[in-house]
Amino acid sequence: MNKFLILLGAIIVVVSCKSDKTVLTLSNGIHISNVHIITSEDGTYSPYVGHVVTEEGKIIYVGEEEPTINGSFESIDGTGKFLIPGLIDSHTHITEVQGMLPYQMEAHGELAEAFIAQMPKSYLYFGFTTLINLGGISEKQISDFNSQPLHPDLYHTGRSGASVANGYPMNFAPEEFRFDGAPNFIYLESEADNIPDKFNPSDHTPKAVVERIKKSGGIAVKSYYESGFRGMPKLPVPTKQIMNDLMENTHKNGMVLTVHGNSLEAHSFLTDVGVDVIAHGMWNWGEYRNVPSDSLPDEVKNVLDLQIQKQIGYTPTLTVLAGEEALADFLFLNDPQLKKVVPHKLLEWYATEEGQWFAKELFSELPTEEVHKIYGGIQAQAMLALKYLSDNNGRILFGTDTPSAPTYGNQPGHNGYWELKLMKEAGMPLDQILASATINNAQAFALDSVGSIAVGKKAHMLLLSKNPLQDIEAYNAIEKLFVRDTVVEREDLSVN
Ligand SMILES: [Zn+2]
Repeated sequence: MNKFLILLGAIIVVVSCKSDKTVLTLSNGIHISNVHIITSEDGTYSPYVGHVVTEEGKIIYVGEEEPTINGSFESIDGTGKFLIPGLIDSHTHITEVQGMLPYQMEAHGELAEAFIAQMPKSYLYFGFTTLINLGGISEKQISDFNSQPLHPDLYHTGRSGASVANGYPMNFAPEEFRFDGAPNFIYLESEADNIPDKFNPSDHTPKAVVERIKKSGGIAVKSYYESGFRGMPKLPVPTKQIMNDLMENTHKNGMVLTVHGNSLEAHSFLTDVGVDVIAHGMWNWGEYRNVPSDSLPDEVKNVLDLQIQKQIGYTPTLTVLAGEEALADFLFLNDPQLKKVVPHKLLEWYATEEGQWFAKELFSELPTEEVHKIYGGIQAQAMLALKYLSDNNGRILFGTDTPSAPTYGNQPGHNGYWELKLMKEAGMPLDQILASATINNAQAFALDSVGSIAVGKKAHMLLLSKNPLQDIEAYNAIEKLFVRDTVVEREDLSVN
């Protein structure tokens, strides 16, 4: 809050009051006039027609009255249009090239480069102006992303997640680089024999790990509770003591603890501990997986009730399932929206025998209808859990997990739009969907400078030709974006 007071102080220099009309003198400003302003600080919306003025990438005026503006600024007529805050995706991985393994990225360097150059624009194309990378990221990856001329704001969780030794997702890496690739792994007594001697246990306590993540610029700590899925051997998971220590140290360092978990077992454990955010929805109902998908078993309901009571952040990530299911047939690759955000040569590669590698790995023996039946059943349960939270004042945070696996089914930006539509399909009202992707995420991750249209905040806004409180398609009806001090035409962000 103090930050805003200081900013307000600075703005008084350019605001003076002749009569009772606000007078603004700008040097690098934008005035959006007569626009439907749709913003909220608490998830309730009272849209009105008014004016928004920005200067040097910050919002300096929001109100019904038209201010008098002098100096140098751009005017944008918002008549009949809708202005919302830029969207926040609190679960992404900008470190991947969708659908490719490292050796394929090397073999097809040009495709990988084209993808990486387009990716920040693809997120913006679908309105995402703030991303949180929930996994390992290198300094080079951060600076490469930030050196693109137009890009969303990027926040991260350090050089690697706080995974327990040999637990998820370390288990995917070959043993010889597993530990070097996860500098923030947490020492587990039970894995002592399987940890190379060169690692000192005192460098891998929850305290040491959290301090390292803070030092590397992280805003949150990502940990994991995953005992295994899809035929994996049983994986080691954190103890309650470890999770409590992680939480205590995360808070001591002014950060947020967000933890992977998508099963009843994981949600139950994490809810009991009371972590800040669970980075996935609950779709793996364990022993209740075969119950009819139109009602919640009591055990699932009890965990959700406790999450509501403790106001734990719940990140539905419905596109994790949809983005795998997408590999079952070619319908997905024919989506015209994909051509806007994925380099066309890469789209062609996905359809090749080589590009189909993950589809084959997942579904080689299953007929397509069977895949849709299985995934449809799990998604119905994920949606039922989400609807319950939505109906009962749960704390729902928009996040996609783009990409959740080496699938080409989770594409930057496009996946976010898909997630928004799936949330609607699950029965969430449109005002809650908008709040989840803006103010809820900003508050949950303490990103005070974004999430709403208010004086002092960054000028991250979307100008829409449809009303997002009436039509989910509004998120695909973006005309212009305001990204800091730049006005961007949406079409300029698409693949050439
Ligand atoms: Zn993830």
